[in-house]
Amino acid sequence: MTARESALAASVFGNSLPAPHRIVLTDLCGLGGTCFVCPGLGGQILVNLGRRGFDDPIGCCTPTYAAPGKLFIHELTHAWQLAHGHYFPRLLPRLLAGPRAGDAVYRPPAVLVPPWPRLTLEQQATIVDEWFHPGRLGPAAWLGLPGMSEAHPYWLYVRDVIQAASLRGRSGGGTVQCL
Ligand SMILES: [Zn+2]
Repeated sequence: MTARESALAASVFGNSLPAPHRIVLTDLCGLGGTCFVCPGLGGQILVNLGRRGFDDPIGCCTPTYAAPGKLFIHELTHAWQLAHGHYFPRLLPRLLAGPRAGDAVYRPPAVLVPPWPRLTLEQQATIVDEWFHPGRLGPAAWLGLPGMSEAHPYWLYVRDVIQAASLRGRSGGGTVQCL
């Protein structure tokens, strides 16, 4: 990631993502045009954004992610899942849902409060991208309002689950909290 990209990532994920040089953006694309993440060599995480997302990760908008950077943040959440060991255990249901899975796979639960519910890969990524820029899959009252607000119903989840996740435990002997 470039300095600008990693600064944007840090504004959402805090210190919970691997170092910027370990996150490698590519223009690869999966079946049906879906973006995806996968492990690379040497501990890298490949974030495959497709051609448009790769050309301008921060500025790219798509019909589904209709705000600059929203797709990037969504896919970085999958990188976060991979870095914290949450990705592969939950991948099979995602694959079975198909590359063009409908909103039901993505839409977060109506109530999101502790104790945090078990979420699908896409629900969790949607929570982060909806907090980043509220859209049609988040709380209706927030549609069109500014993102990254500490008043948003998803903020506590972003703060207490996403940002609070420590990478130290994966190399230093501590334990990683799994949710
Ligand atoms: Zn996704």
